[in-house]
Amino acid sequence: MSRVTLAGVGKSYGALTVLKPLDLDIADGEFVVLLGPSGCGKSTTMRMIAGLEEITTGTLRFDDRDVTVLHPRDRNVAMVFQSYALYPHMTVAENIGYPLKIAKVAKEERAKQVDAAAKKVDLTPYLARYPRDLSGGQRQRVALARALVRSPGVFLLDEPLSNLDAKLRVAMRAEIKHLQRTLGVTMIYVTHDQIEAMTLADRVVLLNDGQIQQVGTPDEIYDDPQNIFVAGFIGSPP
Ligand code: ADP
Ligand code: MG
Repeated sequence: MSRVTLAGVGKSYGALTVLKPLDLDIADGEFVVLLGPSGCGKSTTMRMIAGLEEITTGTLRFDDRDVTVLHPRDRNVAMVFQSYALYPHMTVAENIGYPLKIAKVAKEERAKQVDAAAKKVDLTPYLARYPRDLSGGQRQRVALARALVRSPGVFLLDEPLSNLDAKLRVAMRAEIKHLQRTLGVTMIYVTHDQIEAMTLADRVVLLNDGQIQQVGTPDEIYDDPQNIFVAGFIGSPP
């Protein structure tokens, strides 16, 4: 588990600035939600934290470690994307164990860790199945288990529920919250859905147009919006 500190982290593509320098200190074990409309820079921020995108300005720290230019493999982060893309030709167990295989973990140890990860998301009875024989919620849990399997200190989820129907989304939301609390992991979660953000977050970071609009607990943001954008987006009176 890690504390995550962004100091002046910004992103430009050539002359185009998509994220203005952003300061954010995320506590060990905190559930932070990045919320904002499409195109505001949420995924870019996540990809920089994961190391999938170069950081243009500023520094990123996990605990006391400067990871600004560290390879994703060495960051101890795991990321779940909107399209979580399980490998169709692999069983649930093989899908979950894939990151361990890449990391050259021995077969026996791999099986142990796969079993432990599957247990955390109630997938034990399904380990021998193929993704096509699972429900949408079960597939999502495989993606979560695959992210969990290496016990990451920082867990990144980018719109993980947007492909699910409304009912399942609410159920999975509760599961993710429970998992985060049980494991005590630091979680950064992206959504454009304000209700999802308000129900999940210890703290919400509201972005618009590549810039932080407000950071606070759901209550703080709801009760005391700092500008018209926040009030409009959250749907509370300014
Ligand atoms: P969000 O996840 O909040 O919808 P993104 O982080 O994906 O937003 O994108 C933020 C902005 O950065 C958008 O305007 C997008 O068009 C732009 N952007 C993303 N990737 C690139 C890229 N490779 N080159 C140029 N602009 C990009
Ligand atoms: Mg996005």
